[in-house]
Amino acid sequence: MMNIVLFGPPGAGKGTQSQNLIRDLGLVHLSTGDLLRAQIAAGTPLGLEAQGLMNAGLLVPDHVVIGMIRHRLEESPDAAGFIFDGFPRTLAQAEALDTLLEGLGQGIRCMVSMVVPQPELVQRLLLRGKDSGRADDQNEDIIAQRIEEYQAKTAPVAQYYANQNKWKEVDGIGSIEEIYTRIREAVGC
Ligand code: AMP
Repeated sequence: MMNIVLFGPPGAGKGTQSQNLIRDLGLVHLSTGDLLRAQIAAGTPLGLEAQGLMNAGLLVPDHVVIGMIRHRLEESPDAAGFIFDGFPRTLAQAEALDTLLEGLGQGIRCMVSMVVPQPELVQRLLLRGKDSGRADDQNEDIIAQRIEEYQAKTAPVAQYYANQNKWKEVDGIGSIEEIYTRIREAVGC
């Protein structure tokens, strides 16, 4: 099984590149942001709990996203592998993911970290906000808060994978195809 963590700050292009990997490698896409937005759209209690935090640019609690991922892993026992997009975002989530995968006799093959400078991230997110309708992409203060959460809580997750020799860094600047080529090289397939 090929399980890949696509890692990087908001606006790095994780969603776009996940679509390329799914198309070519037949993996199942697990985006906690997408799963949370689906809960909000369905008006579930979980969605209501998450909505305020997401709109403020803050992370939702670990147990919420870990529970969603556990559920999705159990739902796809025959998957060729998973792309984790926007998860794990904390050390507790990274540890929980390893435990969940171990329980299935699986593991993470590698974590690909997409590097994009902050001013470029802000521009990309504001541009995306014009089409996506995402409230958290339309306000510079909220974007700044999301990047701050990333730096404080998510960036240390890279070291967790580096300690396991699974961390790969790719330059996230360039055309979508150029960046994708770098990711395929990093993934080694
Ligand atoms: P994303 O679509 O990945 O940019 O996520 C949008 C928002 O959903 C984030 O700003 C968080 O509020 C929330 N979120 C998504 N994934 C996670 C996660 N793994 N842990 C905590 N919060 C998350």
